[in-house]
Amino acid sequence: MKIIRMDYRIYDELVAYATEHLPEEACGLLAGKEKDGGFTVEKIYYLENIDHSTDHFTLDPKDQMLAIKDMRSLDLKPLGNWHSHPESPSRPSEEDIRLAFDSKASYMILSLMAANPVLNSFHIEDKNVEKEDLRIISEKYYY
Ligand SMILES: [Zn+2]
Repeated sequence: MKIIRMDYRIYDELVAYATEHLPEEACGLLAGKEKDGGFTVEKIYYLENIDHSTDHFTLDPKDQMLAIKDMRSLDLKPLGNWHSHPESPSRPSEEDIRLAFDSKASYMILSLMAANPVLNSFHIEDKNVEKEDLRIISEKYYY
């Protein structure tokens, strides 16, 4: 199973953004780099949920095109997408599974239903859901 690493600052930003958008579902794209046989999330794109709904989402296609362009310019790979679940657990809903067409993508779901947010990453293929090894990391930097 591939390991996906995400810096805790990117994670904190994601949680803050999704919390700001409550009670609606927030959504976007994930971009990163292949590293040590796994992936590192380098950038999260925050896209408009054009459904403005509390229980499903549709990524704005125009935002999506701009994000892909930006990834190319930064030499990042599209890793998948993410969305929040304001009032349900961090696992794909039936609709999420039905709409998961890309078996190479990671689908991250951030649940905000409890006091502490929960983020999980999933691989979805032929309607089978498998949890990925997502690690929120913090590194010491040298100045
Ligand atoms: Zn969902």
